[in-house]
Amino acid sequence: MTVDLSRLVKPMVWEKHPSANIWRCNVPHGEYKVFAIGGFSWDYDSATSLDDHTSKAVESVECAIAAANADHAARVLASLDTALIEELVGAAETLLRYIPDGVVECRGDKCREPWCASCFGWDYADAHMEKVYADRDLTRATLAKLKGGA
Ligand SMILES: [Zn+2]
Repeated sequence: MTVDLSRLVKPMVWEKHPSANIWRCNVPHGEYKVFAIGGFSWDYDSATSLDDHTSKAVESVECAIAAANADHAARVLASLDTALIEELVGAAETLLRYIPDGVVECRGDKCREPWCASCFGWDYADAHMEKVYADRDLTRATLAKLKGGA
């Protein structure tokens, strides 16, 4: 399983200075700045530690923003129990294996499965499977988002 944990981090929202080529982004743990003044660089200042300061030169504004985004994501993810997220994804993938493929007919064995047309009739069993398919598709779509596939 390969969960793209960076997808758990909200995108940074940058604001450009009205007249200078400086972009700022405040996040809960500090402030990022991107400079395009005589070269390109990005800065980080921690909100909680004066010793936690980063300043790096890069090749372009896009590189500076990408590096700042990566630094922010790394800081956020360092405070999360990512193993628990991996376990949750694994549990959802395991549950998907047990979803019935479609309506069945036990022909009098009284299986009492809600997707059995013999026990509950075709209308009920079909309606049940429509709900199952919708929930399955929603779960698959969410997993694809976490794994970078959507
Ligand atoms: Zn049945």
